[in-house]
Amino acid sequence: MGEFELIGHYFAAAPCAQGGDGVVRGIGDDCALLALPAGEQLAVSTDTLVAGVHFPESCDAFLLGQRALAVSASDLAAMGATPLAFTLALTLPAAEDIWLAEFARGLQLMAQNCSLALVGGDTTRGPLSLTLTVFGRVPAGQALTRCGARVGDLLCVGGSLGDGAGALPLVLGQRTAAAELAEPLLARYWSPQPQLALGQALRGRATAALDISDGLLADCGHIAKASGVALQVEQARLPLSPALLAFAGERQALACALSGGDDYRLAFTLPPALLADLQADWPEVRAIGRVLAGNGVQLLDGAGRLVAPPHSGYQHF
Ligand code: ADP
Ligand code: MG
Repeated sequence: MGEFELIGHYFAAAPCAQGGDGVVRGIGDDCALLALPAGEQLAVSTDTLVAGVHFPESCDAFLLGQRALAVSASDLAAMGATPLAFTLALTLPAAEDIWLAEFARGLQLMAQNCSLALVGGDTTRGPLSLTLTVFGRVPAGQALTRCGARVGDLLCVGGSLGDGAGALPLVLGQRTAAAELAEPLLARYWSPQPQLALGQALRGRATAALDISDGLLADCGHIAKASGVALQVEQARLPLSPALLAFAGERQALACALSGGDDYRLAFTLPPALLADLQADWPEVRAIGRVLAGNGVQLLDGAGRLVAPPHSGYQHF
């Protein structure tokens, strides 16, 4: 199969590549063309996933397609953006029919789930890696950034934490578990649901936001630094799923929630008066701490004592 046949068959022909809101021109020209409604800004984010670094070399292609797009779409959620489109740069060691068909199926499912149109990409030969760029739109000036947290705000998260990191021993085949534990944890790793609707609902309410990809404490550090404040996390308030608690035990579950990556939940700061209203529509939202004067991230243990946060956050270099 030639390069153009491959692109045409697996990607250009996919339902998600047939255009969508704001797509003036999709796959097949030198550039895609996107249109923005008047008064809106373009939100853009790129993520690269490398085999052996971000996912196991031999992993299921369907799950990989799903997860790769979910991880990228999560950045749109974090900015409060409405999804528009994405591009896919794919580097493959070989053009294997079954692998490509499964990968495209996973990608299609998540694209549909997130209302993202595939509008272009690049296809090259080499060690397996994927680069996805996502585009979204947001009313001018209303994007959720990392830099607006104010002293007195609550620190909130969009749902249970640590499942993605807790699933890693299952993903890597180091441990097994009964289906009722393994299934929900593996689902949170392989098909995290980008919190797009929550992100959009936070426009005009949250003062700062991001999606948790490197671990709660490390990512809270980014908000603290960008906003010039301190964030205090109360361990006793962290939402932990029953599956994670049963699989990993409380101590390890807490470590996953505090320092594990791959959560793709939103973390955001919110004026306290807005919490009840938000929780009426989003009952999974939890306040887990608050914004204080100062800098860095503080952790209160189960007894409310200030403890040194564990060293955390994956860094490639
Ligand atoms: P160019 O040579 O102009 O860079 P290419 O030959 O790389 O274009 O790609 C032809 C068309 O197919 C372009 O519209 C490009 O965006 C699209 N494309 C290439 N690879 C992919 C892919 N993996 N997924 C989606 N679209 C792709
Ligand atoms: Mg090209």
